[in-house]
Amino acid sequence: MNTDLLERQSRANAAPIHDTETGSDVPESEPPLYAARRKIYPQSVKGTFRRIKWAVLVITLAIYYFLPFIRWNRGPDAPDQAVLIDFPGRRFYFFFIEIWPQEIYFFTGLLIIAAMTLFLMNAVAGRVWCGYLCPQTVWTDLFLAIERLVEGDRRAQMAADAGPWTTQRVLRKGLKHVLWLMVAWWTGGAWVLYFADAPTLVRDLATGQAPLLAYGWIGTLTATTYALAGHMREQVCTYMCPWPRIQAALTDEYALNVTYRYDRGEPRSSVKKSEQLRLAGLAAGDCIDCRQCVNVCPTGIDIRNGSQVECIQCGLCIDACDSVMQKIGRPPKLIGYDSEVNLERRLAGESPVQKIVRTRTVLYAVIIAAVGGIMLYALLTRHAFDVSVIHDRNPIFVRMADGAIRNGYTMRILNKRLEPRRFAMTIDGVPGNVIEIVGLPLGAARIVEVGPDQSREFRVLVNSYEYAPRASSPIVFHLTDMESGEWAQAQDNFRAPERPK
Ligand code: SF4
Ligand code: SF4
Repeated sequence: MNTDLLERQSRANAAPIHDTETGSDVPESEPPLYAARRKIYPQSVKGTFRRIKWAVLVITLAIYYFLPFIRWNRGPDAPDQAVLIDFPGRRFYFFFIEIWPQEIYFFTGLLIIAAMTLFLMNAVAGRVWCGYLCPQTVWTDLFLAIERLVEGDRRAQMAADAGPWTTQRVLRKGLKHVLWLMVAWWTGGAWVLYFADAPTLVRDLATGQAPLLAYGWIGTLTATTYALAGHMREQVCTYMCPWPRIQAALTDEYALNVTYRYDRGEPRSSVKKSEQLRLAGLAAGDCIDCRQCVNVCPTGIDIRNGSQVECIQCGLCIDACDSVMQKIGRPPKLIGYDSEVNLERRLAGESPVQKIVRTRTVLYAVIIAAVGGIMLYALLTRHAFDVSVIHDRNPIFVRMADGAIRNGYTMRILNKRLEPRRFAMTIDGVPGNVIEIVGLPLGAARIVEVGPDQSREFRVLVNSYEYAPRASSPIVFHLTDMESGEWAQAQDNFRAPERPK
């Protein structure tokens, strides 16, 4: 790729600068670890990617703000909020799914799927998450829209900020910050609604009767939203977020990224000069150096300098450049989603290729499908009750006066249904046993009852007269629902003194 641009870039990168503190020359290509923030005034833009971003913003924010108010009927004894993280009840509700603390592995599966989806998105279309879906991007976009609404577009803001503090400027700035704080407060308020019955909590918050913790969380999230989306903006992506670094290590030459097609754009010149060059049969690029792509960029970078860690791949520079190309009568997509491979191929005069099916994309898709399939199977076949047992630690066993060996266990039965259930208990593995359930009369049928949507603990004592001649032998506790026949089992060990050989 020996174009003029590359030569220019490599010359610039090689040029050293003098560090006055250390007295040594530092290559210019080594950027400082942190640069003081310069205010960016992104200009508004219209186009396909801007429309996609608006649609994503509206959908994601609508889901976030209003989801807690959707009702879902689970019967009289269960909360009717469709999505609820119920810490006191130790449950997570998601429409028809109810997750108990013992089923935390579902969240592990979800995290794996989320990570693999992110990797897959990156392998196909670069930082598409950053540009469209990341909460930092979505809220920053919303705050920028409010800023433009109140203070005007890029030029008006820059002119006002360069001028004196007039009454109008103070009022506009004040109104902007009030609106930002209102959105931030609403954002924090929506968050706490996921942890309690939303309509009740809204009423309690309004009347000052909500728990102190709720006010604390709203205050914290109001402050962080206001700071991150209103003031820090692109700094979060550049300095705080680890994803750009991870993404750079995960990408490959086939991934689509927002790219300036310098093979088409260079050498840059004005519209008039380009036409003259073309008429003279000389090379003229399509870029007219109007800097519209830079002006609309929310991170303030120039995509013509190549891929940069600051670029969130929002595609707004594509929209800006496309409208310039349309005005000057040149083909669109001087900036577009493109891959390194295609850049090379075009320079070599070959036609571009799209290769979405690659080893890494197939691998990510297979992992997503496998984990998703396992989770779905586990969800569809999971028991509506569960049982676990823990052997007593001390004493491990007791020899009874009648010669029997007794082991004690703590059994916990979970009833996930919304009605009381009765379970019959049997044991396998220990011959000649007598089961005693503490709290039930001796000799009574080994039937236990667990209330609706509850877990209940029992002390179970197992006496054996014919125990195996080993220090430890497996014992299996079977529980069967007396109405539905559904069953579950838990395994432990029966301990006994070793018999002399
Ligand atoms: S918007 Fe297009 S034409 Fe204008 S400077 Fe950027 S790349 Fe060049
Ligand atoms: S360079 Fe283009 S794609 Fe990258 S952040 Fe700026 S506007 Fe978005």
